[in-house]
Amino acid sequence: MNAAGVRMVVTRARSQGTGTSLRPGGEKAAPLRSGEAAAEGRKSYSPVKRRRKARRLSVAYETSEGEEGEGAERLQAPSWQPQDWRRQLDNIRTMRSGKDAPVDQLGAEHCFDPSASPKVQRYQVLLSLMLSSQTKDQVTAGAMQRLRARGLTVDSILQTDDSTLGTLIYPVGFWRVSQPVAGRPGGTTGLQKVSRKLNSCGGRGQSLEQASLASKVKYIKQTTAILQQRYGGDIPASVAELVALPGVGPKMAHLAMAVAWGTVSGIAVDTHVHRIANRLRWTKEATRSPEETRRALEEWLPRELWREINGLLVGFGQQTCLPVRPHCHACLNRALCPAAQGL
Ligand code: SF4
Repeated sequence: MNAAGVRMVVTRARSQGTGTSLRPGGEKAAPLRSGEAAAEGRKSYSPVKRRRKARRLSVAYETSEGEEGEGAERLQAPSWQPQDWRRQLDNIRTMRSGKDAPVDQLGAEHCFDPSASPKVQRYQVLLSLMLSSQTKDQVTAGAMQRLRARGLTVDSILQTDDSTLGTLIYPVGFWRVSQPVAGRPGGTTGLQKVSRKLNSCGGRGQSLEQASLASKVKYIKQTTAILQQRYGGDIPASVAELVALPGVGPKMAHLAMAVAWGTVSGIAVDTHVHRIANRLRWTKEATRSPEETRRALEEWLPRELWREINGLLVGFGQQTCLPVRPHCHACLNRALCPAAQGL
C-alpha cells in the first residue's frame, strides 16, 4: 500500500472497519459491497443556509502529501448530524440482518477468483466493479463467471478481441447495440433505436444504461492496457490514480480501495445510497448527485461506519427502500422517515 492509503486511514476516528485485503502476500479480502433522483421532491424543512467548513477535508482524491494537519481537524465532532440517524441505522441493520439481498451474494466484491494471485484478484475486483456500473448484480456475476472460465488476467483481456469480449460480457448481444447498422452509413444506430424504445417505455435510466453498456468494452480494454503499461499488471493503490482510469468513477475507486487494498478511502455512494440518504435526510441539504452525497455524508458520519454503509444501504435499497414505490409499510423506519409522509 502506498503512503496515501495509510494517511487516509489515520484521519479522524482512526478506524478502518475493514477486515483483510488483497495485498501482496496472498490474504483474501473481506466481503464488501457496494451501492436517482437527487432529492426526490425533498422538501426544505429548514431555510438554514448551508455552511461548510472553511477548510473541508476531501478524503477521496488526496495523494500522499501534506495531510497531517487535516487529520487533526477530523478528530473534532461534526457540527451537524441528522436527527435520529442512529435509530434509523439500527433499524436498517435489523431489516438487513438476513443478508439476503442480491448485493450480499452477487456483489462485485464476491466475483473474483480466490485461488488467483493477489495481483490477479485485485484486477478482477476492479473489472467486476467496472462491469457493475448501472448493471444488476446478477448480470455482473454472470459476466465475471464467463470471463473467469477463460482465465481472467490483464494479459488474457488484452489478447481478447473486442467482439469476443463483448459477447462474453453481454452474450445476448446488448453491447452490439452501439454499433452503426451495417450498410447504412449515417443512418440510425442500433443504440439510438434501443434508446428510443426504452424512452418510449418511460425508461430514461434504462437508455443511459444502454449507453453505459456500449462503453464498457472500450473502457475495459483501455484501462487494462494502462494497468499493464504503468502498474505492472496491478491496480493502483490510490483513489486519485483509480479515478484517472477510463471508466472508473469515485464509487468504484472507493470500493476497490476497500476490497482490493483494505483501505477505507471514502464512502462509496451509488444511486441506492444517494437516494436513501436523501429520503432519510442524512444530508444537511438535498443533494443532486452521488458525489455530492458522498461529501455530505463524510462531513458527519463516523469513519468507522464508512465501509459498512454502502452494502447496508444498497441491499436496503434493493429490497425495501426501492427507487419507485418503496415498501414503507414494511419499513421499521416509517415513523422516523421524513420522506415517507410524502411518498
Ligand atoms: S419509510 Fe419508506 S422511504 Fe423511508 S426509509 Fe423506509 S422504505 Fe425508505
